[in-house]
Amino acid sequence: MTTGVWLVGARGNVGSTAITGARAIANGVSDTTGMVTAREPVASLALPDVEDLVFGGHDIRSQSIEQTVEESHEAGGVPDRDTLEAVREDLREIDTRVNIGTARRCGAAVEALSDGELVEDGTVRDVIDEIRSDYTAFVDEHDIDRLVVVNVASTEPPMEHPEEYETLEAFEAAVEADDENLPASTLYAYAALVDGHPHVNFTPSTGTSLGGLAELADQENVPHTGRDGKTGETLLKSALAPMFAGRNLRILGWDGHNLLGNSDGLVLDDDANKAGKVESKGGLLEEILGYEHHNSVRIDYTPSLGDWKTAWDHIHFQGFLNTEMKMQFTWEGSDSALAAPLVLDLVRLVAFADEHGHGGHQEQLASFFKSPQGVDEHDLSRQFDILYDYAERHASDPKTDHDTDV
Ligand code: NAD
Repeated sequence: MTTGVWLVGARGNVGSTAITGARAIANGVSDTTGMVTAREPVASLALPDVEDLVFGGHDIRSQSIEQTVEESHEAGGVPDRDTLEAVREDLREIDTRVNIGTARRCGAAVEALSDGELVEDGTVRDVIDEIRSDYTAFVDEHDIDRLVVVNVASTEPPMEHPEEYETLEAFEAAVEADDENLPASTLYAYAALVDGHPHVNFTPSTGTSLGGLAELADQENVPHTGRDGKTGETLLKSALAPMFAGRNLRILGWDGHNLLGNSDGLVLDDDANKAGKVESKGGLLEEILGYEHHNSVRIDYTPSLGDWKTAWDHIHFQGFLNTEMKMQFTWEGSDSALAAPLVLDLVRLVAFADEHGHGGHQEQLASFFKSPQGVDEHDLSRQFDILYDYAERHASDPKTDHDTDV
């Protein structure tokens, strides 16, 4: 049984680091620290082995995976030199399986990343057909039994009227009408779901959050999940906010200031692309606390920081006798080293769900996302409980068809 992983945005930091990590584990030069699926109770599930994942993908820029990883090593030391050398040949080979994709309605900042041709010629239907044929060719060429499509591409500007695509009928009518408002993330997602490939949206982009695409996933019983990986500042928010709520300490103001310097930061420097990210980073506080308060999220591009993101949060809160207090924290993390293991976790868990017929939204994966689709729970520890309950319930489900691993 071979599981394929199709990364939309394969040559970016998250995509390249996920590939590097998987190949480093396969080549015995890295362990699984940082992977949720390597820890009990989730590790008891009969998941596909990381070593056996076969990678391919789309991107819109010509910089190779190897170059991205080389840059990341030079600028921030992730991965270290030995790890890079141990996977270099694998990165070169995988890069030959990256096709040029589409940047439709991704905004000028994303289009500027492209230095070659894009799959833009023709109608929306033509673009979808080309993406589908890329998925199919990869499946055929590598004897893939199950293909998981993961969006790790740059953040698109949010759609203005997503409510117009609430049904599958409306979405498909828009495709036939060559609707120019459909962004690339929805085209990659539609192309996946319509052929029964599970879909993961690690970005804040629209993807399968459209009602019409969720309906398609339900109809085809295909798992899909998103959106926007919860890796740093928002992870802390979802762990800390329940503490303030539980102690009945009232938040007066929560200011989060993020500095990042990689190409994700460059794209997010454009106000149109930034809007989606700010929404998903800020939204969960009110959901957890249940009341409105000053809630500000700032994202600034600081090129010299590269992949090392700094988040500084200032929390102003009120306790007994109207006493006002403050908490501040600073988070400094390698964005890609935090994100990459979660991408591998999500591939394994979504492949498992698909194998066992768990289609539609994946409530158990809420802890992975800033804006989890199909579930209202934002409290991190409750989200972990949902995941652990799922793992315990399915721990004895057999590997139905992984036994013939090649
Ligand atoms: P990046 O800029 O390094 O990589 C993005 C890649 O996507 C680039 O190679 C770019 O050429 C490619 N791309 C852009 N538009 C595309 C399209 N329409 N089709 C195909 N490829 C396209 O960014 P990154 O740091 O790897 O982050 C990737 C995504 O993951 C971003 O949307 C980011 O917001 C999201 N994300 C990252 C983290 C994290 O790094 N910790 C956490 C949560 C979410």
